[in-house]
Amino acid sequence: MQQATLKESFSVSGVGVHRGKDCSVTVKPADEDTGIVFFRSDIDDGGFKNEKIVASFCNVENATMCTQIFNENKASLKTIEHLMAALYGMKISNAIVEVQGEEIPILDGSSLRFVEKINEVGIKEQSKPRKILRVLKKIKLTDGNKFEEIEPFDDFEINARCDFEEKGLKTDPVIFNFSKNNFATEIAPARTFGFISEVEYVKKHNLALGASLKNTVVYNDEGIPLNDEGLRFENESAKHKVLDIIGDLALAQYWIHGRVSCFCPSHKLNNILLRMLFSSSENYEIL
Ligand SMILES: [Zn+2]
Repeated sequence: MQQATLKESFSVSGVGVHRGKDCSVTVKPADEDTGIVFFRSDIDDGGFKNEKIVASFCNVENATMCTQIFNENKASLKTIEHLMAALYGMKISNAIVEVQGEEIPILDGSSLRFVEKINEVGIKEQSKPRKILRVLKKIKLTDGNKFEEIEPFDDFEINARCDFEEKGLKTDPVIFNFSKNNFATEIAPARTFGFISEVEYVKKHNLALGASLKNTVVYNDEGIPLNDEGLRFENESAKHKVLDIIGDLALAQYWIHGRVSCFCPSHKLNNILLRMLFSSSENYEIL
């Protein structure tokens, strides 16, 4: 696989789901070996200017409700995962992302708008090959009855099981394989979701200030979506979990050859899994 970037820049703007403030991003073509690099082009006080924040798992410090990255000056950026998933899923390895605001706009809660924009401007293949991270050893992480693991595999595959039965929602496992399945049509449109039983907690703690039925699927206690338009997939919530895993593992900054299996994945576990994988050079090789 060759490295790739965009043929032209694109911009999108909208509300940020966590702070509820307007923000915008411009995604620009970048040279080979750049990786995905963010710039907070709005920061202009306290000595901060155009802060660079590299899209690396090492820079994730907060992964409670979204994935947030920081640089050494503590400039940060929230909710990068859906844009990261779109870039990774569309096999874009190099891009400069200029951000006005402290988070990436939530848009419709999925990666769909980013994928549409990438298709509109076009993808440019570059001459250097993309580096591949090949998993050599199985890494397993458990947290109560939740787990995530990654093991050697000749392709990149994610096998995700979720459990929202307590909240009234039944979900089937999702297996997504980058060679056999289509990211743009099968995963990218799956939206962020929440449960009516969580709304009071979220309000009380001033969380998700920009969340609405326009960007979040909200399920009632019987697992029925309250959104007028209903679901995009029967198994939309589990597919969104796969989308989040792709966006979070994209922070490895390599194309991955490995198989991820998980039960109740989360941004936090996704990040710990990468940290465990990179903790020993016996766990992987770079080709
Ligand atoms: Zn998400």
